[in-house]
Amino acid sequence: MGQLQCRKTDHLVELFAREKPEAMIVYVILHELTHLISPRHDQRFTAVLDREVPRWRNMRKWLNTLPLEAWID
Ligand SMILES: [Zn+2]
Repeated sequence: MGQLQCRKTDHLVELFAREKPEAMIVYVILHELTHLISPRHDQRFTAVLDREVPRWRNMRKWLNTLPLEAWID
């Protein structure tokens, strides 16, 4: 979880707090918290998300459709 990752997350939380459903904010926060358990997107990481946010794969897919400009200040 480097500085770039944190900046991306801050950006997303800001964006979704304004325009998107609460579930997305919860997913982004849980994603980052899960990195405290596992720094990589490995099996242990996905097992935690599967348990806590069963629909996280759909949410990730949705987030990945955001235009690149959404990531830039
Ligand atoms: Zn991650």
